[in-house]
Amino acid sequence: MTEKTLFRKIIEREIPADIVFQDERVTAFRDINPQAPTHILIVPNKAIPTVNDVTSDDEHTLGHLFIVAKKLAKNEGIAENGYRLLINCGVHGHQEVFHLHMHLVGGKPLGRMLSNNTR
Ligand code: AMP
Repeated sequence: MTEKTLFRKIIEREIPADIVFQDERVTAFRDINPQAPTHILIVPNKAIPTVNDVTSDDEHTLGHLFIVAKKLAKNEGIAENGYRLLINCGVHGHQEVFHLHMHLVGGKPLGRMLSNNTR
């Protein structure tokens, strides 16, 4: 059996996290190292390692991530001013946890998407 990811352990409540939403497809919890006043991770309950591992079977679940993101943005009071959704993939994407997840970040102006010194 493969080792459970950190996020699988959070989903199964083996380790604590500030879970703000959970249903049969998705779990959302506050990032332990927030980059903005709101920083929530929205994670499919199915452990898909990266975007490279997505299949057409995952369409429904991945579409649901956006529905949950929209609802949580409203709950957090950041929907009107806007926010950023991002998914890191692999080494160049600086993905740290290999269980696909969407970051919902907002609550302040976030600036440009990438810093200018990344060339
Ligand atoms: P990524 O770089 O896209 O893989 O993002 C991983 C995110 O997981 C980072 O923003 C971390 O701060 C966050 N993180 C790591 N461990 C935990 C944890 N135990 N609870 C909540 N968030 C975590």
